[in-house]
Amino acid sequence: MKLPHDVQLARSVCAGCGCLCDDIEVNFRGDKLLGLQKACPLGEEWLRGLGPIQPEALVKGRPVNVADALFAMAKILHSASSPLLVGLSELTIEGLCEAARLAEASGAILIQWPEPPAGLSLSGLHAPECSATLGEVRGTADLVVFWRADPLRTHPRHLERFSLVPRLLRGQRVMVVVDANRENSTAQEAVETLPLSSQAPAVAEDIEIVRALRLRIERPDTRKQQGPPPEIAQRLLERIRASRHAHFFLGEDAARSPAFWDELQSLAAHAREKHRITISALPAPGNGRGVVEVMTWQLGSQELAMKGDLLSAGATDLVFALGMSGDVLSKSPFVKLNLPRITLASTLDPGAEASIRVPGLDPRLSATVVRSDGIHLSLDGRGGGAADPAVEILRQITRATGKQTRSSPSEPPSPTSWA
Ligand code: SF4
Repeated sequence: MKLPHDVQLARSVCAGCGCLCDDIEVNFRGDKLLGLQKACPLGEEWLRGLGPIQPEALVKGRPVNVADALFAMAKILHSASSPLLVGLSELTIEGLCEAARLAEASGAILIQWPEPPAGLSLSGLHAPECSATLGEVRGTADLVVFWRADPLRTHPRHLERFSLVPRLLRGQRVMVVVDANRENSTAQEAVETLPLSSQAPAVAEDIEIVRALRLRIERPDTRKQQGPPPEIAQRLLERIRASRHAHFFLGEDAARSPAFWDELQSLAAHAREKHRITISALPAPGNGRGVVEVMTWQLGSQELAMKGDLLSAGATDLVFALGMSGDVLSKSPFVKLNLPRITLASTLDPGAEASIRVPGLDPRLSATVVRSDGIHLSLDGRGGGAADPAVEILRQITRATGKQTRSSPSEPPSPTSWA
């Protein structure tokens, strides 16, 4: 594997939060970060915490070379009768394609964890009229509503890059925050804050407000029969009537509810003749949108729907945590199953039977991620980074399982290249 020693990247991607800012200037000498421009404090902390780009490995908690760990993993995987491949969000698109081939070769089920927002498959892939790219929001949304969301805390450059600071092609932009959290820091920048009464993750109140809003927009002439709308619905109605394009960004709790997404989609669809309303979630860190896209291209999305049955029935004998590390792994339901575990992620797992550390979504990689709005980004900004080591490792594990897929090459494994 060839890795560049000195790397200077002018437009690399930071994966410190779901914004995936693609204008980061970084300068590495080997694994040492010498220069960094444009990252926010959260991003700077994340970038300074990146590990070496060269993979490392453990077997039963003891350091070994990568080839040994790779063969140990292949052996464990081969002898499992019903393995789960879980996580995925820290993998690049190239790594995800190999993970899908490995799942096919080993008969494993692929499960995305953490789960994507409830509305992702509806808002992005199947109902594009109800969503918008961040570029469209930046260019045309003159009303931006953050619903149970606090981007200044969770996505520090969101307002600067997409949703408040960029000048509109025409007119002025207005930002409104709807939240029950009185400590919401984004509210200080908003023109208006509309207070919800129930704390997250309650959604009955949220659904009622959006439904009242839709009825007012849909049938304004039946005002007397409907009675007065909730105050928040009335304020939003006035804002939407004064706007050309209103975009709703949902925070994590709001985005988790399929019923709330449905209500917003219905609002956008019914308002379409008079108002442009679009919706998206503030995304979690990682390549979650990329996972959904690769699953859809290569496997069909039904794989995602099977996890509940598998976990409750205990119908699995091995957890392969792929692209899932740290708290996300340790707090996941898969670790609580107390099954044998192998891992390939951005941190080593001493509790695993075998574990390989790979760089994850590192800006030094010439590999692809998909932003929450479907825009594909090269981590190194096409600046001459290294190939993603996870791709070759997954390819070799697939070969070493001794089963071939329709799409994988048929050469014998060559694990010694990792020694
Ligand atoms: S806003 Fe997020 S992606 Fe952008 S620099 Fe900060 S942490 Fe990184």
